[in-house]
Amino acid sequence: MPTYPGALASRLPDVGTTIFAVMSRLAAEHGALNLSQGFPDFSAPPALCELVARHMRAGANQYAPMAGAAPLREAIAAKAEAVHGARYDPEHEVTVTAGGTQAIFTAITALVHPGDEVIILEPAYDSYAPAVELAGGRVVRLQLEPPGWRPPWPAVRAAIGPRTRLIVVNSPHNPTGSTWEAADLEALAGAVRGTDVAIVSDEVYEHIVYDGRRHLSLSGHPGLAARSFVVGSFGKTFHVTGWKVGYVLAPRELTAELRKVHQFVVFTVNTPIQLALAEWLADPGTWRDLPAFYQEKRDRFRAGLAATRLRPLPCAGTYFQLVSYDGLSDEPDRALAERLTRELGVASIPVSAFYREPPTGPAHRLLRFCFAKGADTLEQACARLARL
Ligand code: GLN
Repeated sequence: MPTYPGALASRLPDVGTTIFAVMSRLAAEHGALNLSQGFPDFSAPPALCELVARHMRAGANQYAPMAGAAPLREAIAAKAEAVHGARYDPEHEVTVTAGGTQAIFTAITALVHPGDEVIILEPAYDSYAPAVELAGGRVVRLQLEPPGWRPPWPAVRAAIGPRTRLIVVNSPHNPTGSTWEAADLEALAGAVRGTDVAIVSDEVYEHIVYDGRRHLSLSGHPGLAARSFVVGSFGKTFHVTGWKVGYVLAPRELTAELRKVHQFVVFTVNTPIQLALAEWLADPGTWRDLPAFYQEKRDRFRAGLAATRLRPLPCAGTYFQLVSYDGLSDEPDRALAERLTRELGVASIPVSAFYREPPTGPAHRLLRFCFAKGADTLEQACARLARL
């Protein structure tokens, strides 16, 4: 192919390839155990796969309705009511998306005008800020501080001004594994009361919380639900990240704007998987057992880390474990993550990737490991890390 002859002004000049693709690729190149990108290394439930195949064979292979297959929207609304006591109208307030990242991108694009401000709490999943910037918005970054990573509510209140359009929040939190408490929801409700500020609530790890915790969804808080896009993901809940199916719950006015954009981003999401998920959701056991399932993995991984010089931080939710390498090395986290992949054969994600301007200092010498892996993989990874 000849080279492009024109000049190119990038819409995202500061953005390279997302760290998740970079580290997964490096892991593959070096045959490393891949605990970097967040995905399970075990199979999806065979009966769920069978349901998809059944719907395909039965001919459900053409476009689903733009907002999502009706049975799936109904099942999502029924689950939101059963779990969080939230009442969403499947017709006007539930939209099926091609995964959580598309849901977030679409919600941000639907609301943000050029010059609008969007508050993001760092460390943050790396798709939020580029979505704001592509819409012409300005990202206002506030910091969560280790080891508790609590939202800085006074700073949030101070950051809200006449240009603030959105706040993006995330609990259970990627990458820190922290979760919100009731007081956090009240603080957010207080901060936005009397404003036009809307909220994107990334809750894709909603079913992965530990030690008897209950996930506090913004959908279950009437004051917050009224102004929130609540984003969920079946990839995380049913071990099918490659299927790319998620959803957005939002009041009718917000959903109408969301769908205006959604229809031109993906138009609609694949039909047989939607119909299979609708049936799968009918059994609450499919998500109720998830905390115990992942808690066993978290505990196994943390126990294995005890034999290494890495120090695990608290992990209340998600399938991510942060570890501190303070005292072990003063390498930048990205250099260490790459070295561990090459030399020890264990891939992780450097936490600096979740910041625009990564903080430095001993408290920020952190790597993120994904423990959504089989017991053998976790044990092998810890054995390799013990050589550090
Ligand atoms: N959410 C996943 C993670 O944080 C990855 C998503 C992706 O690869 N884009 O690892």
